[in-house]
Amino acid sequence: MIHKRFIPLCAALLMALTAASARASDGRLDVVVSIKPIHALVAGVMQGVGTPHLLLNDQQSPHHFALKPSQARLLQQAELVFWVDPSLETPMPALLASLAPHAIDIRFMADQDLVRYQNKISDDSDDDHDDHEGNGRGHMVNPHIWLDLENARRMVWSIAATLSAVDPQHAGAYASNAAKLDKRLVDLHEVAKRQFASIQRNKFIVQHDAFIYVERQFKLPRGLVIARDHDTPPGTAHIQHLRDLVAAGVVSCIFNEPQGAGHQIDIVAGASFVRRATLDAVGVGLPAGPDLYFDMMRANYAAFAECLAGTH
Ligand SMILES: [Zn+2]
Repeated sequence: MIHKRFIPLCAALLMALTAASARASDGRLDVVVSIKPIHALVAGVMQGVGTPHLLLNDQQSPHHFALKPSQARLLQQAELVFWVDPSLETPMPALLASLAPHAIDIRFMADQDLVRYQNKISDDSDDDHDDHEGNGRGHMVNPHIWLDLENARRMVWSIAATLSAVDPQHAGAYASNAAKLDKRLVDLHEVAKRQFASIQRNKFIVQHDAFIYVERQFKLPRGLVIARDHDTPPGTAHIQHLRDLVAAGVVSCIFNEPQGAGHQIDIVAGASFVRRATLDAVGVGLPAGPDLYFDMMRANYAAFAECLAGTH
């Protein structure tokens, strides 16, 4: 079983807890989660026990953000903080050190058994061989790990194990919630597999390279990426290259993102009638809560299926 492997993590947590067991007097566990899709998974595991706080709002990029005073207070009061990695939430290590030095923080990227990919290495390479971890020495890991459904399952069990270690009296609820979420994720995977089974393997362009986790999971072609990572804006030669491909008619779809740079999409699209759709890695505009993860992923799968199939 997947969750058995978290036992060493739990042992470490228990040791940390016996050192600093400063639970709030009302017995409620104060949990903070950095971004909406991960918050959804934590909220699902905590259902019926409590509600985790979401740290960042829709106007804040997870990659570059400054906290408002109310958000800083959330971190100051947190006992548990779930986040991904400095390669996603860049300011988090400094914020945790200054605002939540005694909180237990769970950085998901520390789990070596998650599926993970590297950021694309060169701007213009659209081949399939250079982005798996291990091949790209010295390149940054691609942090969008939650977009892989098997990763999401593993994260759910990890969340349940962590919560149970900190709050053993609700361990039963956490385990049964995790089992329900796991089943929903398996079901979603089955539905999506059928949706992708007959998808056309056309070329497409994505705003930034978050969706490799979907492309790989469902054996889609590798998307052509406008911005290969969060900190490197695309060069004009690269934009022109993509614009040429679109003008030549070899690209069937361009995906924008709610937080993305829309003007880049407009330049790449040029005067062509290439189809456009929206992908969203963080659930912008969706109400935070346990269903967000599922709603967001279903919308992403539908966008892929429709835009590549050309039904609109
Ligand atoms: Zn991103």
